[in-house]
Amino acid sequence: MSMFKDIPVDVGVIYEGQKIRRPDMQVEFGGPDVPAKFELVTARGMDEVDDGKVMIIGPDIKDLKEGSSTTLGIYIEVAGAQVEKDLEPVIERRIHEYCNFIEGFMHLNQRYDVWMRLSKGAYKKGLNTFEYIGKVLQRLFKAELPIIEKIQTTFITDAAKVKAMREEALKIYEARDARARGIKDEEVDVFYGCVLCQSFAPTHMCVLSPNRYSLCGALGWFDGRASARIDPKGPNFKIEKGECLDPVRGEYSGVNAAIKEKSLGEIQRISLYSMFDQPHTSCGCFETVGFYIPEVDGIGIIDRDFKGTAVNGLPFSAMADQTSGGRQTPGFHGISMEYMRSQRFLQADGGWSRVVYVASAIKERVKASIPQDLVDKLSTEKDVTNVEDLKSFLQSKGHPVVVRWKEAPPEEAPAEEEAAEPTPMMIPAEALAAMPAAMGGFKIVLKDVKIHAARLIIGSGEKPKKE
Ligand code: SF4
Repeated sequence: MSMFKDIPVDVGVIYEGQKIRRPDMQVEFGGPDVPAKFELVTARGMDEVDDGKVMIIGPDIKDLKEGSSTTLGIYIEVAGAQVEKDLEPVIERRIHEYCNFIEGFMHLNQRYDVWMRLSKGAYKKGLNTFEYIGKVLQRLFKAELPIIEKIQTTFITDAAKVKAMREEALKIYEARDARARGIKDEEVDVFYGCVLCQSFAPTHMCVLSPNRYSLCGALGWFDGRASARIDPKGPNFKIEKGECLDPVRGEYSGVNAAIKEKSLGEIQRISLYSMFDQPHTSCGCFETVGFYIPEVDGIGIIDRDFKGTAVNGLPFSAMADQTSGGRQTPGFHGISMEYMRSQRFLQADGGWSRVVYVASAIKERVKASIPQDLVDKLSTEKDVTNVEDLKSFLQSKGHPVVVRWKEAPPEEAPAEEEAAEPTPMMIPAEALAAMPAAMGGFKIVLKDVKIHAARLIIGSGEKPKKE
């Protein structure tokens, strides 16, 4: 029985975290097979919103072929005496949460990258029109965020319209993201936290600081501040920075206390600017995944839309699987586009001078933030397809990471007599289960394996060093 009598499926927090596999799906919206998709919230004047209205532009759910993947834009307009422009990203991020309250309706990711699935079971129960989804969203928004006095929702499946509106939405996202670019973490007294993704990743907490945008790329420091103000009991909260324990890694006593509390003691410390040393946890919503490439002692980054396998032989899905869940996995890291534009981007690991491989789509988007002398030295999938080619590429371009090889050649195993005191590659044993062993002529991916070891030494690797 539904909590809303006029809605054919149940709605409630218990459905958060539901997964709908392809064989069980009636239809999907967005996702990797659909280039045009978006969700956007706009704050309007009170007389500009027709409260409760749900509009559908293009085919409705019942008109879509079973098993099909469809383009979709969700556009929500809100109004209220206290609803300001600044709140748009905060309200928009809740679309993810509230969609996931609907039985048989799964929502992943955010902004230009959304991915939703409707289950066959929910469809059979009667969830066959966006009208129902729109009504549920409107009721939940008004109940959870009472500052919203009026709300209207538009679902767009018309491909041309989605494409055009997405272009506009991209400009709006960019303008929002640019707001904190001039501020440094040390210039503010407090950071903000987000635990919205704990339904999928119970130990995860995003730290929203001016120099570290959230993994999903949807919330920054300003958004954390706005959200904590309007909904103090909600998923965003203030984090007192406390003492700066390490300015290079970005470790703060207040952040450590917050992650310890929010992860129920599972995670004790996090660095804001390192993917090796006590890295920030990763949920599952990250825009891109960063991965260590031991053969060249460098970092690669690919995004969700990356097709095929990266230079290490793994697709996005396999690496995302190893990175997500709220874990702290040295060598794998959820990264947002905006964090790549930060002046503190992985600064403890070498920042951009440690990045050796990046998806061409990412390179294009963040080019202006990459140090100009490095742009041509950064390989993409168009330049290399395996680590041997990557090595040659980096050498031929004079990438700064090559200097590190001279200090400790990445693939030369130490001679027998020198091996008595090898330079250990310090990887926590738990993290090994997530590390692909892409050495030699074959690859082994350890998955769902627990290895207990007090210390692990990999002979031919070297310790990922701070710069
Ligand atoms: S990825 Fe982080 S900021 Fe984004 S919704 Fe999840 S917890 Fe919040």
